Amino acid sequence: MASRLNSKISELVYDYELPPKYDLFRESLREFLRTDIADTVEYYDKEEKYPEENIRKFSEHGYLGIPIPSKYGGAELGEFGYGLAVQEIGKVCSAHGTIIGAHTGLCCVPIWLFGNESQRNTYLPDLASGRKLGAFALTEPGAGSDAANIKTTATKSGDHYLLNGTKQFISNGDRAGTILVFAANDISLGAYGGITAFIVERSFGGIRTARVEQKMGIRASTTAQIVFEDCSVPKENILGTFGAGFLVALTALDGGRSSLSAGAVGGAEMSLEMMIEYSRQHPEVAEKQSVQWMIADCAIEAHAARKVSYDSLNEVGYYFERLANGEKVPRMQREMISRHTAIAKAYCSEVASRSLEKAMQVMGFDGYAEGPGLERGYRDSFIAEIYEGTNDIQRLVIARELLQTERS
Ligand SMILES: Cc1cc2nc3c(=O)[nH]c(=O)nc-3n(C[C@H](O)[C@H](O)[C@H](O)COP(=O)(O)OP(=O)(O)OC[C@H]3O[C@@H](n4cnc5c(N)ncnc54)[C@H](O)[C@@H]3O)c2cc1C
Repeated sequence: MASRLNSKISELVYDYELPPKYDLFRESLREFLRTDIADTVEYYDKEEKYPEENIRKFSEHGYLGIPIPSKYGGAELGEFGYGLAVQEIGKVCSAHGTIIGAHTGLCCVPIWLFGNESQRNTYLPDLASGRKLGAFALTEPGAGSDAANIKTTATKSGDHYLLNGTKQFISNGDRAGTILVFAANDISLGAYGGITAFIVERSFGGIRTARVEQKMGIRASTTAQIVFEDCSVPKENILGTFGAGFLVALTALDGGRSSLSAGAVGGAEMSLEMMIEYSRQHPEVAEKQSVQWMIADCAIEAHAARKVSYDSLNEVGYYFERLANGEKVPRMQREMISRHTAIAKAYCSEVASRSLEKAMQVMGFDGYAEGPGLERGYRDSFIAEIYEGTNDIQRLVIARELLQTERS
């Protein structure tokens, strides 16, 4: 899709000045995506094949640990730099964005934020360099939106915990070498106190891939059901405080939703660029007022979405710096940040869906046709309304925080 874009349009319409370190980073990432990735993504989507070679290239270019401090092997560009990358990748292929997002935002970042020095030094260099892929395993057959309802258990056995249970819809779940697993240490204690986060290495054994899902979109990313059968995890691999795993999950999801909003902005911008380019090439289409209004509506929403997303990335970036430095962030502040990330995720993903639909309308058959057009982006985009909490759940988070009702 991106290969068909006129990059001059893109730069004229969308760029605004960023601090030099981000500007240089974005330029080199764009160049990398243009030359190494864009022409391959159709193939991986059509074949429903994991883009191993591409992910290797991302790692060689240092794009698998963007927000992680350099002392742990990352690029130290914070959540904002990471969000910029997700935005650019979102213009090219959301499946690649999903693989990198699950690895970086949902596995590397929580290890950085909640890990002790030994855990950071053990796991982050391998992850940030791409020697190992990461995954985040929260969802279960009976616990999707109701994530607190997980039934995977962690039972103490000497110096280890035995994990037993089934996780489903796990991005990278069949491939990851390091998996963050959330398990109930005591179901009777509920979400706060009863769930612990574990850093699990596939090499520990007792992990089986039961199924890899087939999907409408983001087909190059794998989504797996994984089963834990007496998977033995040393107690040193508890991430954060014992029993406080739900907080680890929610914090990771705050970052995930914020970067996901940036990926959705990328999708919205890509479809707007395609509408503009198509209309310029078809003056008989461009002269219709209905088309001009669709372009204008998409431009308004893409502009607003980018502001919302960047604001959220900056806020989360500052929040994460504080957490990484061991600062306690008061609960009210954390919940306000969660409200903002929920707003960014819900708004930007819905903007992307609307924009892709309008672009499809403007481009007629050329939008609908299979091939390097809009069709893949259209199939891919809706996932942003589902994962990391559906947009219904985002609305629940927003309303609950504003009304200050108790958590269930
Ligand atoms: C491609 C893909 C990749 C994923 N990757 C990961 C991953 O890497 N790690 C991971 O842990 N999970 C992952 N997930 C899981 C994802 O986060 C869940 O699918 C999502 O949270 C929704 O859960 P569910 O599918 O079980 O739907 P359900 O929870 O069954 O929801 C069904 C419908 O009911 C609505 N609903 C449910 N409860 C409420 C409520 N209280 N109020 C209002 N509406 C409600 C929902 O909005 C939805 O419309 C992934 C999912 C997909 C599709």
